[in-house]
Amino acid sequence: MSETTETIFSKIIRRQVPANVVLEDDVAIAFTDNSPQAPMHILVVPKKPIPKLDDAEPQDAAILGHLLLMVKKVAKHVGLNKGYRVVINNGSEGGQTVDHLHIHILGGRQMKWPPG
Ligand code: AMP
Repeated sequence: MSETTETIFSKIIRRQVPANVVLEDDVAIAFTDNSPQAPMHILVVPKKPIPKLDDAEPQDAAILGHLLLMVKKVAKHVGLNKGYRVVINNGSEGGQTVDHLHIHILGGRQMKWPPG
């Protein structure tokens, strides 16, 4: 993994910054995005501060799998039963603004393709 940096998400994980937490377990936390791009916009964040998907290593495979299963659990928990979009922005051209790996769950409206 490359150099880790302190981000707003580490502070949310440590409860130094408030967040609307939807679900949490030992490996990850899910909270609502504070600049929602859909009626339902939730971030699923590993507690391990992997900066971005490109920095994940083979030993992180269990964490990555856990995150996707948590996405499914969160979507069910908040009632996204008609579908939802899952997004990982990776790096600057990928549109990533917080250097702590996270998965966006977007739902509650019809999603369009291609994305912007
Ligand atoms: P990305 O652009 O993929 O790195 O996504 C970062 C996301 O984090 C953006 O959608 C932001 O709105 C969201 N975000 C930043 N700070 C906070 C915060 N304190 N609480 C909740 N969401 C945040």
